[in-house]
Amino acid sequence: MTDLVCRGIVIIVLAVGCGPGPTPYNGSAGTPRSIIPDAGTNGTTDGGPADAGISSDDIFRIAPHSPFPALTFHKGLVLSSVKLVTITFANYEYASDVEALGDFLVGSDWMTAAGKDYGVGFGTHLAKVRLDEPAPTTISDVQLQKKIVDWIAAGTVPPPEANANQVLYLVYFPSTTTVLDEASDPLCTGPLDGYHSTVKANHDGTKYTIPYGVIAHCPQETSTNAQVTVLASHEFIEACTDPTVTPTSGTGWFLDTPDTDSWPTNLEDADLCERDHLRLGGFELTRAFSNSAAAQGISPCVPAVPGEIYFNVTADPTTKLQLAPGATAQVTLTGWSTGPRNAWDLSTEIVGQFELQASLSASKIKNATTVTLTLTVPQSAMSGAEAVAKVWSGPVDFPTRYWPVGVRVK
Ligand SMILES: [Zn+2]
Repeated sequence: MTDLVCRGIVIIVLAVGCGPGPTPYNGSAGTPRSIIPDAGTNGTTDGGPADAGISSDDIFRIAPHSPFPALTFHKGLVLSSVKLVTITFANYEYASDVEALGDFLVGSDWMTAAGKDYGVGFGTHLAKVRLDEPAPTTISDVQLQKKIVDWIAAGTVPPPEANANQVLYLVYFPSTTTVLDEASDPLCTGPLDGYHSTVKANHDGTKYTIPYGVIAHCPQETSTNAQVTVLASHEFIEACTDPTVTPTSGTGWFLDTPDTDSWPTNLEDADLCERDHLRLGGFELTRAFSNSAAAQGISPCVPAVPGEIYFNVTADPTTKLQLAPGATAQVTLTGWSTGPRNAWDLSTEIVGQFELQASLSASKIKNATTVTLTLTVPQSAMSGAEAVAKVWSGPVDFPTRYWPVGVRVK
């Protein structure tokens, strides 16, 4: 890991990167794309029926909006045909479930959809390792790395490959274990429930950089294993598309945005579809950001959902605001949807280095309408500190997509 927000790490509540600039996206250059709604249907699959009164005589136009950013490739390997090793401890109650998850993921349509833009295809489930040892009550990232190296040396798990290693270790922990992330913060108590990383090790005289992922089962989520499967699919696809997670040298696929952009840099493909998941193969799985889907102006999160009417907001300005302590600024949010639908809920979430204050002039928005976001930097904010107001669109208890508005303190 990584960065302030989420490179190599997932924010899960069962249930960030850079845009090419402020050019409005209209579906095709210059002209708004038009959609004629189907007569007799509400034209949506997401609980937001279109307004009564829309007829096939009406022409729907997607409101002009800024484009999504694109993930870029930064040299190095991807796990183009991953060899997954699922590792569970003796007291892990969902071993069968997560082994079945691994069996499904490596050959699934989900894998094809999530990986194809990044050179990642089907993989194999190389091994399912049920350890004799119970999970520790507490474990740090350094301690886990040592365990992985020891398991490899002892032959408990298959070794990594000497060339173009495709072996990925996913380690699952029960809810009774407190897992400390690379910053020594406990998973499940803050924004993070898991992460992926690498450990360097020598094995049989060869130096390896070994990718692994950590999947915590959060105690507050014990009534369901969906938290685990969404998280595991998140870390799995990010480990495949950005296996070595080395922001300083820069490898793999992640968002690489200009310093002035509101999209945070270093976000990986599942980070950009945080909170957006779907059920496939009997598992609740994350959706992942697709460069090609985003470029088409449809939902950027894949697998695609047939008939989905995607909706979000776009902010003007799109660049990071530079505000002095105590200053207030207003940002115009414009709603846009890819088809007709009713207004949707808006909410804000602040992430970053200071307590940015945010308020919305309205709690709902719809295609081609605007809401004002007012942002205030507290007097106490330090010069150079950064924060992002994520403007979430979706049901109030479970918003599913956001647009970032970044602020740096002058
Ligand atoms: Zn992530």
